[in-house]
Amino acid sequence: MSHIQTATRVIESALREFGGESGVAVVTSFQREGVVIVDMVQRAAPGTPVLTLETGRLPSATFEMIDAIERRYGITVERIHPDPAEVASMVESQGIDLFRDSYAQRVLCCQVRKVRPLEKRLVNLNAFFAGLRRSQSEARADIEVVDRSSQPVKISPLADWSSEEVLRYTAEHKLPEHPLYAAGYTSIGCDPCTRAVLPGEDERAGRWWWETDEAKECGLHFTPEGKVERKVDVLLREILERASV
Ligand code: SF4
Repeated sequence: MSHIQTATRVIESALREFGGESGVAVVTSFQREGVVIVDMVQRAAPGTPVLTLETGRLPSATFEMIDAIERRYGITVERIHPDPAEVASMVESQGIDLFRDSYAQRVLCCQVRKVRPLEKRLVNLNAFFAGLRRSQSEARADIEVVDRSSQPVKISPLADWSSEEVLRYTAEHKLPEHPLYAAGYTSIGCDPCTRAVLPGEDERAGRWWWETDEAKECGLHFTPEGKVERKVDVLLREILERASV
């Protein structure tokens, strides 16, 4: 069975198990993988919610992608915003580009602008689709296709896909592509924390490039109780208390 067939089965099965009354959604930042997931899910169940984090630091090209997706599928992409008061407090106490100062500050920014808003939004979902692939980085080498260790369940239908398979699907279905790929980006997130990669670099090398490899995730993982849980949490809590955010 091809990876496309396998991914389609995973999606159809998840829609049956977790769907109904908006019980499942796609969460994407409109990188190629996310767009493939959007396409496959919209084919299987048109109108399935598509969510994206509008962190307040996105590149303008990402908004072009949102427009293109909305036009193509006739949907309205739901933009998840951080709490304005939390952002204002963080920026006032730590500065707008605090993530350059230390790993802890970067985690704080990602928590305020990404993790917490997403956590709040996902609380009513049974499951969500994400475009993670195992070959993207060492940190993703062991991801499950259906990760039931957390709530909501995280489904990664492309876990076994190569970047070439993603490119092939994108070309064959004439999917819109994020404009920053043409500028040498291979992974796209917030504008100040993403750069183009150099030849031979890891696909995720352009994300938080000033940090060590083990740090290059947002912490978008949830415990069965729906809480973010990572080794940096103790440190993070101390920072949050100090920063009052
Ligand atoms: S990616 Fe950068 S700007 Fe975006 S939330 Fe994380 S630290 Fe902040």
